Amino acid sequence: MEQQLPEVKNYISGKFTKNGHKIMDVICPSDGKVISTVPMSTMKDLDDAVKSAKEAFPLWSGIPIKERVQVFYRYKTLLEKNLKELAELTHIENGKTMDESIAEVEKSIELTEFACSLPQLVGGEILEVSSGVECRIEYKPVGVVASIAPFNFPHMVPHWTIPNAIALGNCMILKPSEQVPISANRIAEMLKEAGLPDGVFNIVNGDREIVEAICDHPGISAVSFVGSTKVAKIVYKRATSNLKRCLALGGAKNHLIVLPDAHPEMTANNVAASMSGCAGQRCMAASAMVGVGEIDIIVDKICNEAKKIVPGENLGSVISKEAKERIERYITEAENAGAKVLVDGRKTSVKGKEDGFYVGPTVIDFVTPEMAIAKEEVFGPVLAIIRAKDIDEALKIENSSEYGNAASVFTQSGGAARYIMEKASAGMIGVNIGVPVPREPFSFGGWNESKFGVCDITGKSSIEFWTLQKKTTTKWNPESKSNWMS
Ligand code: NAD
Repeated sequence: MEQQLPEVKNYISGKFTKNGHKIMDVICPSDGKVISTVPMSTMKDLDDAVKSAKEAFPLWSGIPIKERVQVFYRYKTLLEKNLKELAELTHIENGKTMDESIAEVEKSIELTEFACSLPQLVGGEILEVSSGVECRIEYKPVGVVASIAPFNFPHMVPHWTIPNAIALGNCMILKPSEQVPISANRIAEMLKEAGLPDGVFNIVNGDREIVEAICDHPGISAVSFVGSTKVAKIVYKRATSNLKRCLALGGAKNHLIVLPDAHPEMTANNVAASMSGCAGQRCMAASAMVGVGEIDIIVDKICNEAKKIVPGENLGSVISKEAKERIERYITEAENAGAKVLVDGRKTSVKGKEDGFYVGPTVIDFVTPEMAIAKEEVFGPVLAIIRAKDIDEALKIENSSEYGNAASVFTQSGGAARYIMEKASAGMIGVNIGVPVPREPFSFGGWNESKFGVCDITGKSSIEFWTLQKKTTTKWNPESKSNWMS
């Protein structure tokens, strides 16, 4: 990367603020070069952001939702118009391929499109509950809300929360990942261009300290978080102990259960794409495959597919030197413990990008359930294959995971698929699908230690998280009888 990008800034009251404090370098993972800097926001920055959001709230929440969503119709057009430029930013700051970056921005467009449909979904309810007496329910915004994002989707994950929360009348403070903070500044510019009033959307930057301050700030009513389980637990405990509502999505270890009757080509293709897409840095990535019975032909085909994946071409880099070292350590430890590395992505280097953080596609067979690589989140393009004698043993392995984001089954048997759909302990299930992300209007969210709090983060389920229900009972006619309830 030759190009130096502008420094990242906080965004408060519709303005990018001058950075007067500590900064951190932003590194391009595909070549290891410094591309920008990000400020470590102070408590004063957060106070200013909360103040600006609080001031904007009465006006914004008072606008009818049909008018509020007009901003997002215009914003969606801007995302479409600027798609290539936005994808370039994601590609540069995250290291994923250009095709994956385009897909990420396209997903942001789909999420924005869903927010435009919210007036159809929050019509409320009204019922005559006794003679002349009506009860009605309306969805009201929560107030000032915060959204804390991880590094792996710099564009899409902020769009899990921004369009829905804001269209529903909330004012937001976004805290992007300090590793990929660049896209968020561009999002702010486009929201302003789309006509969002100043103060409705704000950005603070930083890491642990600012996240803790968000959890503690009395002016913030709700906190959404997406990141690792370790931090999700910290955020959930801290925000809820401060009496805020909180939805915290954590890490994952997704199991693909492959039965001997699975379609070999379709399975190999999907499994290889799932484990390697975004360099395995997706919370929905296939990380552990449980092969039931005789599946050697399928394993061979998976290896052939994996060998077609070329780092620097159709495989991006991982986020950092530390991530590369961690992933390679998992592979080596599994090998030392007796697993067989069939395709080895260690010591990968890309010509011309020797300082980039690349790990090649890796397939490891005969992993056993107690190995760290079978249990822990590796977050790299690595598939650990565990052998099981039957479906129940495969399910036992899947069920023993502390996570529960996704699980998939590959088979041509409807009965076997149905059994696994029923018994797998995960929030999102795939049948012959490697990455079973529910698309809008369905909601995204895992189970177990992959999610803390009620509701899901996208789709219809998110409405409840971002709103309060106001229940009103009315009576206008004096002739209406009164009883003990009304
Ligand atoms: P992370 O938990 O390290 O960081 C997430 C956010 O928390 C960042 O904004 C970071 O600044 C902040 N943070 C980091 N350490 C903190 C601390 N000690 N206290 C308070 N805040 C802290 O996660 P990451 O490495 O950026 O992202 C990868 C993780 O996110 C993976 O575990 C992945 O599975 C998960 N993820 C989950 C989902 C999901 O839907 N469940 C989606 C995307 C990513």
